[in-house]
Amino acid sequence: VGDRADFDSETTSICPFCGVGCQVSLKVKDGKVKYVEGINGPANEGRLCVKGRFGFDYIHHPHRLTKPLIRREDAPAKGLNVDPGNWQKHFREASWEEALDAAANGLKSLADKNGGRAIAGFGSAKCSNEEAYLFQKFIRQGFGHNNVDHCTRLCHASSVAALLENVGSGAVTATFNEIENADVAIVIGCNPIENHPVAATYFKQFTKRGGKLIVMDPRGVGLRRFATHMLKFRPGADVSMLNAIMHVIVEEELYDRQYIEAYTENWEAEKAHLANFSPEKMEPICGIPADTLRQVAREFAGGKAGMIFWGMGVSQHIHGTDNSRCLISLALMCGHVGRPGAGLHPLRGQNNVQGASDAGLIPMFLPDYQTVTDDSIRGKFTGVWGSGDFSNEKGLTVTEILDAVHHGDIKGMYILGENPAMSDPDLNHAREALGMLEHLVVQDIFLTETANFADVILPAAAFYEKNGTVTNTNRQVQIGRAAVTPPGEAREDWAITTALANRIGLGWTYEHPSEVFAEMKQTMKSLDNITWERLEREGAVTYPSLSPEDPGQPIVFGSGFPRAGGRAKFTPASVISPAELPDTEYPMIMTTGRQLEHWHTGSMTRRSTVLDAVEPEANCSLHPDTLKRLGVAPGERVRLSTRRGSIEIMARADRAIAEDMVFVPFAYVEAAANVLTNPALDPYGKIPEFKFAAVKIEKADQG
Ligand code: SF4
Repeated sequence: VGDRADFDSETTSICPFCGVGCQVSLKVKDGKVKYVEGINGPANEGRLCVKGRFGFDYIHHPHRLTKPLIRREDAPAKGLNVDPGNWQKHFREASWEEALDAAANGLKSLADKNGGRAIAGFGSAKCSNEEAYLFQKFIRQGFGHNNVDHCTRLCHASSVAALLENVGSGAVTATFNEIENADVAIVIGCNPIENHPVAATYFKQFTKRGGKLIVMDPRGVGLRRFATHMLKFRPGADVSMLNAIMHVIVEEELYDRQYIEAYTENWEAEKAHLANFSPEKMEPICGIPADTLRQVAREFAGGKAGMIFWGMGVSQHIHGTDNSRCLISLALMCGHVGRPGAGLHPLRGQNNVQGASDAGLIPMFLPDYQTVTDDSIRGKFTGVWGSGDFSNEKGLTVTEILDAVHHGDIKGMYILGENPAMSDPDLNHAREALGMLEHLVVQDIFLTETANFADVILPAAAFYEKNGTVTNTNRQVQIGRAAVTPPGEAREDWAITTALANRIGLGWTYEHPSEVFAEMKQTMKSLDNITWERLEREGAVTYPSLSPEDPGQPIVFGSGFPRAGGRAKFTPASVISPAELPDTEYPMIMTTGRQLEHWHTGSMTRRSTVLDAVEPEANCSLHPDTLKRLGVAPGERVRLSTRRGSIEIMARADRAIAEDMVFVPFAYVEAAANVLTNPALDPYGKIPEFKFAAVKIEKADQG
């Protein structure tokens, strides 16, 4: 960094990586971000992790897209075959006018010929709320239906399905900072030290003050060092373990009778269901001793105020919705909702996955989770948009859209800032679908793996190059500000979508994201009392905000729930096995996830100097005894194979991994974990089972 006082300008914004939403100060010198510091945002109080502090320089990487590109007529066949540093064999540079015409005309002519249903869109949880809102409006208003989705489908869709069903709202009931008022907390199916590092600092402080931390995960995640109990349960056995804990709470009458009577429904059915799940019966299924299950039940139910945090380890299963139903029931029966230090908190992954979902970037809901099937709700939106009606049918989800491409039903796509050629399960199937599209428009900051398959590529601004609001895991709406200008001819996403909309005849007139925000407020009650001016002035407001002066409510549902009758619901959950169990051919279990230094598909962090230097090579983790059995030394390569494909990857030794498991991060294109993953879906959230696949592991050729 050199002389820290030597910078030309300073801008405050939001870290673009995870859902914690740390506020940052960007110090700019000679048109480039020189260094980043944490400032006093509501979620971070000056703290940053390694990604926020050192991961910013991807925005100045030479691979940035600086001009629109159009696929050459003499290009080689579509495939994952474009070198981002040497793309000229496949694409030619074009003017914005030509590229926007080509992008819009391609989509429009396919829709004219085949109907609007032949077009689908993936928006992005890395863009602003305004950009997410415009993207869903583009598909709905422009093509008349709801085939629009984004990575929430791969992340917390099952948690949201369970929360909407049982609590009446898909967002957290309390901010993670509320843990400072708790005396007991469960952290299940997540690894916050690596994936939500600043939130993890609050969890560690909680234990220093004497709070009881109960960590549950098939891997011995980093927080185990701070835990009162570490429950390393069998992968996929969450429901049996959680039902056994709740069985004890019922059996020993540890539940909060008054709370259950005042605020819930379906308790008798839940109680009867739990009778079948004694800890002794569940011990062989979940692998946790019955005594431990009893002790954990007593400690969680006996706490004065308890919180439950969860992540993808809960949601990315075919029983992900059932997992979340159990967590909701556990909190409700203990009365651990709606009070200081009590609440349900699915830790959201991407920086704006909460906001993009709130803004309607999902196929079954318009903004604020208003259903597309209700005529009067659609009427409200078309009234504001000044356009005709659109379909009352729920649209297709991320993986369903790619299946529909295979079936010939979807022929054109607009993909903004998502990378399904790396992020979807069973990548060979997903990449084949991208190659089959008759017209693919990709809007991004880099020539991603997905852009390899594009017909038109539109260069976009990175987050530190634009203005817009984002909503973090805590429901805090925060404002991001441009610190530097986009490279070359790259433009802000909202402006590109607006230009495309006008080319398909929608007549949009937005000139600044604040105008989009003002329009969103007309149909989104969650934004009541939150204005662009207020966000510029205050930096962040938590929704719901009860008055123009109210900084927002960190805890909700203290006096009832937004469901018919005002009561939350118990929904009993039964044990469902993973879709694919180990057998003699594929005897081990594979699970996937992120690492501290790399973000999702790696397009940003692998182009960040510091982060890529710390973690430069694709790797997987296995127990040292497993490596010994395979005859593999740490650092050597293994071949991982599932029914869907094979990869070769460097193996590390990690005692925290069970002996029959392998953990594979999904950020590395050269050994893409999702070639192996199982596309089987949770029936409610439609989320794939990324966390469990049967796998064969062999020593690879070390050459
Ligand atoms: Fe960025 Fe998340 Fe790290 Fe905060 S915790 S600095 S938001 S990656």
